[in-house]
Amino acid sequence: MVQTLRFLLGDQLSLNISSLKDIDPAKDIVLMAEVRSETTYVKHHKKKIAFLFSAMRHHAEVLKKRGIKVDYINLDNPDNSQSLRGELVRAVKRHKPQQIVVTEAGEWRLHEDMQEWGKDCGKPVGIRTDDRFFCSKSRFDDWADSQKQLRMEFFYRQMRRQTGYLMEGDQPAGGRWNYDHDNRNALPESVTPPEIREFTPDSITQDVLKLVGKHCHDHFGTLEPFRLAVTRSQALAVLRHFLKECLPHFGDYQDAMAEDERFLYHSLISMHLNCGLLDPAEVCDRVAEEYMAGRVALNNAEGFIRQILGWREYVRGIYFREMPGYAERNYFSAKRKLPGFYWTAKTDMNCLRNAIEQTRDDAYAHHIQRLMVTGNFAMLAGVLPEAICEWYLIVYADAYEWVELPNTLGMSQFADGGLLGSKPYAASGNYINKMSDYCQNCRYKVMVKNGPDACPFNYLYWDFLLRNSDKLRQNARLKFPYKSLEKMSPDKIARIRSDSKRFLESI
Ligand code: FAD
Ligand code: SF4
Repeated sequence: MVQTLRFLLGDQLSLNISSLKDIDPAKDIVLMAEVRSETTYVKHHKKKIAFLFSAMRHHAEVLKKRGIKVDYINLDNPDNSQSLRGELVRAVKRHKPQQIVVTEAGEWRLHEDMQEWGKDCGKPVGIRTDDRFFCSKSRFDDWADSQKQLRMEFFYRQMRRQTGYLMEGDQPAGGRWNYDHDNRNALPESVTPPEIREFTPDSITQDVLKLVGKHCHDHFGTLEPFRLAVTRSQALAVLRHFLKECLPHFGDYQDAMAEDERFLYHSLISMHLNCGLLDPAEVCDRVAEEYMAGRVALNNAEGFIRQILGWREYVRGIYFREMPGYAERNYFSAKRKLPGFYWTAKTDMNCLRNAIEQTRDDAYAHHIQRLMVTGNFAMLAGVLPEAICEWYLIVYADAYEWVELPNTLGMSQFADGGLLGSKPYAASGNYINKMSDYCQNCRYKVMVKNGPDACPFNYLYWDFLLRNSDKLRQNARLKFPYKSLEKMSPDKIARIRSDSKRFLESI
């Protein structure tokens, strides 16, 4: 008889996950299930589903090699109930365990659902803390309760002190906490970023590709070519490649965008971190070692560690502190439907076309494309936050609501009214032109401010500030743009408004 049934979710592919910590291979069994309710609660990108199913199947093989019994339910198993709860109930009937153990879910909807699992299957369900983060939820709350404003920078400093990363005694290495100021370079023409690390699909992945091609054909995104790392050893190879080839320039070109360089010096490890194939502490350890060994400059190491130790932990803390109400926030009362080109990439705006084509092909775009191109446009155009949040959750292989929602709703849309950011990340075409080469091949002219040839970001930026003046005018960080608006002639303002109206009606 099975003693403990340990239910492993798709983003819990870590060997040291809390639900497996005291596993007894002689008495326990692990349950893993591919279910349609998880692929369709939003219709995820095909590549994202294939990535996760392949990673799950490979992980199941690793567990089996360690002598652990795994009951793995494929998506096309005819008895599959197609929901996690349903599969747990079926597995309890099959194995008759004395108890169930799971690690808490990362998304609120599942977190809530899990509370009901015990009732449904008639067995005690032990829900364990997910300890794959530097900062527990309660520790985050303690920090948040002590703050007037929840700024990432202060949280990050506390995390540096707590973990000792890049610290010299109680002071930050180099005397500064944050080297962002050095990290704002565009990519010079003379610099060519390295190739990315890719992998040929093995038979497990090929089976998954067929399955996803058949069952998810109407989902967004390109399925093949599929070259993603799907095992821990492949994910470690991606990490090693990053440390050697990209980290030495990570910070330098962190904010850059380039038409022919989709990945620049980014690590491409978020999908592996978020499903458990890589551990955030091992990643930060390796980056800190590179700095200590003198192989990377401080601005690059600090810039990278801040993303994981700071931003990643901070958004998770915000998510669990603010949910469930957070998902409904809409500070600007925005209500526009998501423009169709977010799905088709059919737009003359070259920056958006590039970011969306890349998203469609790779289930990836880097941070500045997400924030300053697709996110910036949605906010300027007044897209309903719920609609743009759903898009981000669907299209990226690393997207889970705990990390996607605060980034989209809070950081990129300012729909939480400034809980997360001190000002909206709103920018005109000037910013995109400074940080990329997109404008060179655009049908719109970035230097033109009004009229049919003008870059739409230019008038939409001012229109956004005008529309939301009652909510933003008092923001100290927007003093200069509002001063400029005050100086604008009524005629100029009328042109901004009419160009914006014409353009927004056309999309
Ligand atoms: P790198 O640029 O190499 O950064 C290193 C690592 O730092 C990433 O792998 C990631 O784990 C972490 N990181 C960096 N920035 C953030 C951040 N703001 N929040 C959390 N972690 C961060 N990240 C996700 O993992 N999932 C999402 O669903 C997601 N949605 C986003 C939506 C919007 C609108 C924005 C602006 C950002 C979003 N991010 C999300 C954050 C960030 O864009 C991605 O983590 C990053 O682009 C992943 O690529 P990379 O691994 O090459 O990252
Ligand atoms: Fe984007 Fe405007 Fe530049 Fe075109 S001109 S690429 S729309 S910023």
